[in-house]
Amino acid sequence: MGTRSSKFVFSFEEGDNKNKKLLGGKGANLCGMTQIGLPVPPGFVISTEACLTYLAQNKKGLNAELLKEIRAEMKDLEKKTGKGFGDPDQPLLVSVRSGAAMSMPGMMDTILNLGLNQVTLGGLIKMTKNERFAYDAYRRLIQLFGSVALGMRDEDFDEIFKEIKEKHKAKDDVHLDAAGLKETCEGFLELVQKKTKKPFPEDPYEQLEIAIEAVFKSWMGKRAVDYRREFHITPEMANGTAVNVCTMVFGNLGEDSATGVAFTRNPGTGENRLFGEYMINAQGEDVVAGIRTPKPINEMRKDMPEVYKELEALRHTLEKHYREVQDFEFTIEKGKLYCLQTRNGKMNASALIKTSIDMVNEGLISEQQAILRIQPEMLDQLLHPRLDPKAKVKVLATGLPASPGAASGKIVFDADRAESKAKIGERVILVREETKPDDIHGFFASQGILTSRGGKTSHAAVVARSMGKPCVSGCEAIHINDIAKEAVISGVTLREGDMVTIDGSTGNVFLGIVPTIEPEFVEDLLVLLEWADEMAQLKVMANADTPEGVSKAKKYGAVGIGLCRTERMFNQPERLPIVQEMILAETSEERQAALERLLPFQREDFKEIFRIMDGLPVTVRLLDPPIHEFLPSDDELVVEIRHLRELVRTVELMEALPDTLKLLDPQLHGKYAANLETITHGLEELKNRHLAENLINAKESMLQKVKALSETNPMLGHRGVRLGITYPEIYSMQIRAIIEAAAECVKEKIPVAPEIMVPQVCTLQELVFVHNDVNRIRKEVEKKFGVKVPLKFGTMIEVVRACMRAGRLAELAEFMSFGTNDLTQATFSFSREDAENKFLPLYNERGILQHNPFEILDIKGVGRLMLITVEWARKTRPDIKTGICGEHGGHPDAIRFCHHINLTYVSCSPLRVPIARLAAAHGKLKEAEYQFV
Ligand code: PEP
Ligand code: MG
Repeated sequence: MGTRSSKFVFSFEEGDNKNKKLLGGKGANLCGMTQIGLPVPPGFVISTEACLTYLAQNKKGLNAELLKEIRAEMKDLEKKTGKGFGDPDQPLLVSVRSGAAMSMPGMMDTILNLGLNQVTLGGLIKMTKNERFAYDAYRRLIQLFGSVALGMRDEDFDEIFKEIKEKHKAKDDVHLDAAGLKETCEGFLELVQKKTKKPFPEDPYEQLEIAIEAVFKSWMGKRAVDYRREFHITPEMANGTAVNVCTMVFGNLGEDSATGVAFTRNPGTGENRLFGEYMINAQGEDVVAGIRTPKPINEMRKDMPEVYKELEALRHTLEKHYREVQDFEFTIEKGKLYCLQTRNGKMNASALIKTSIDMVNEGLISEQQAILRIQPEMLDQLLHPRLDPKAKVKVLATGLPASPGAASGKIVFDADRAESKAKIGERVILVREETKPDDIHGFFASQGILTSRGGKTSHAAVVARSMGKPCVSGCEAIHINDIAKEAVISGVTLREGDMVTIDGSTGNVFLGIVPTIEPEFVEDLLVLLEWADEMAQLKVMANADTPEGVSKAKKYGAVGIGLCRTERMFNQPERLPIVQEMILAETSEERQAALERLLPFQREDFKEIFRIMDGLPVTVRLLDPPIHEFLPSDDELVVEIRHLRELVRTVELMEALPDTLKLLDPQLHGKYAANLETITHGLEELKNRHLAENLINAKESMLQKVKALSETNPMLGHRGVRLGITYPEIYSMQIRAIIEAAAECVKEKIPVAPEIMVPQVCTLQELVFVHNDVNRIRKEVEKKFGVKVPLKFGTMIEVVRACMRAGRLAELAEFMSFGTNDLTQATFSFSREDAENKFLPLYNERGILQHNPFEILDIKGVGRLMLITVEWARKTRPDIKTGICGEHGGHPDAIRFCHHINLTYVSCSPLRVPIARLAAAHGKLKEAEYQFV
């Protein structure tokens, strides 16, 4: 808590309007508004320190010191208003509201009209000459106080109120006269006595004390505690709640009174116009409760033209002072406007962007402030089609929100069907238990992916994200039978061709088509991101491996490709068989022949990517995954071989069928023989060409190879540079394709900046091996093409040993890129899939780990390794280029850390590039306050 302030209570005139921690957001703003001369009714704030002291003293009543200060402030209020708290003729009434440093639903809200009792009620009637109004105020106090401070049920009050309204034939509360409201008050008072076994407190100071204690206690109420835990609100951010005590003003004193809420600009569109609602002859909670429909604020121009002008002036004053869009509450009492509360307006992403640009143009904020007021993650809203929020739909099942955006389409259960359906122009959703690399063509063909197994970093999730396609993964409510081509979801059976909609931002699955709205990449966003680029130090690159992905990355402002995963290029349908041939090759020559057929494909891809990037760096990573990933699984092969054998056997049996039939019944033979002859004759071709037998042989040798290649821990096995060393022809082909593509571009005067990156490196000797090959091939190609090819050589850092040997690796590596997906696995010794599917959720739930480290960079562990790596690498090569290309590279917190350790760039999926650009600027602008834990 630190040293305590000299006092607990501050009048609105004296409170420090910057100190939200002490006075709460609401309290600080009430002080601020008072101090700039806005019409705030007189009042005071009881500090959060008072709350913490109360809670520390085990809630044993308000202490004497605090009570003394409160009484002094109340005396001051009496002086300012000319009324008395508990005065029978001129009663002062106050409201009590909670307010912590951060707005936090779940805490006690508001009690109005404190100070009313049987005696002061008479005074209020005399003062206002309005009996109906006074009883209305009294019944509101009893109910609010009862429910909020005494813990009674609102429903019990509502029931009494409803009965009385019915008895008096009043449609709603405004139609109930003074007698009806008086009866209501009596009923409410009886209810309090019955439920609490005590009369409603008559003494205004007792009312005030109970109300203040109730606010203090609500800080530790279950809902408030849960909310803080859910949104990671730490004591540094908000500790304890303040209490605001404010003189009552009334919007329900007749037709010249009103209450309302407004935004200084439209929070949905950002339009620079007053936006809000008001209600004539009403009190604050009527607007919220929806008893009557409020009117749009522009109607006030006609209803109360003078006040409307004041409201317009208020809007400008508020914005000029807070330099932020404000969401404020006001009350008009007999034609006089009061402002009761203001806070920063919550807006959607498009409104935030528009208001940022507008407020810079209006001179209200600087470009830096415009950037800082937008949380980078919010841009996500703008970059994917979203479900139309107006659509009325029922959720069928919910899985993990694995890749944001929404998509509708016909269900298909395998990648080939997805492709053939897409070819005839159908929109499909690929539904699988889980996906594998050879489903890739199905990803290309589908609008979205839905899986019943796997986490947010499963194959389906990672690939879908990299393509910017919506994905719901791990939706366990779906039971898939891909043989029968049907799935059962929550009791509903879906067949191939049935329509579903998935929402990858929430994980929801819907039956049928839910309308979506397209993303808008608005002009204002482009302007804002250009400002961000100027401020940022980190460059933002993208992970992309197809010309489409690369074009998208460029469109979103990536200044290079930080990771081009070449294995994705192997997975296309016309290439996979050649890749399989290469893997199955018995000799180096056979392998070479297959590789030579692959080379032109790769070269063309690289050329196209270089052309699109037009001189910006393109980091191509040599083959990484274990090669058995390109082959079918042994289970699949066993089934296929069995089916083929059954076919051969069936053909043999068919041939024997006529004779067997004769044996059985010569007459039957006579009847069927001719037809059977035709069939067996037809099968002759199948037999003579030995199609099935040949295929069985091929599949059996593939099965043997699959078995031979199978590994206990493939992710820690024969992959990455280890493959490159055991099968050097593969890397040589890829290196040649890259350098030849670059050479062709150079010849065509297309600027290029290719970079070759080696995966899974753990020792310098591995780099030396590949580097020698690069040099050899580079010389050959340069000679053949007669041009010089610019080229950088570098390494991924995915292995802990590579971190420890960074100084050595930097002798050869001109750049290093942290593959934090693998580096996280390596640092924790967690296998990603097993962790996410088995124990990580429990670890998170129990607080053993705060986050899923595969989603949120583990700065304390993985981050520290990165820091050390960079430090050591720079000792060898001070200008070494460093970056990150694991999935964390697109997340704002990780980006801030990357700025902190001075990386050169972050690389992320194309759709996250705008978010990363904004986060990079935030990293720079907030660097002074960054604390590395
Ligand atoms: C990584 O490990 O972070 C990385 C980028 O490589 P991949 O995800 O392809 O294993
Ligand atoms: Mg990796």
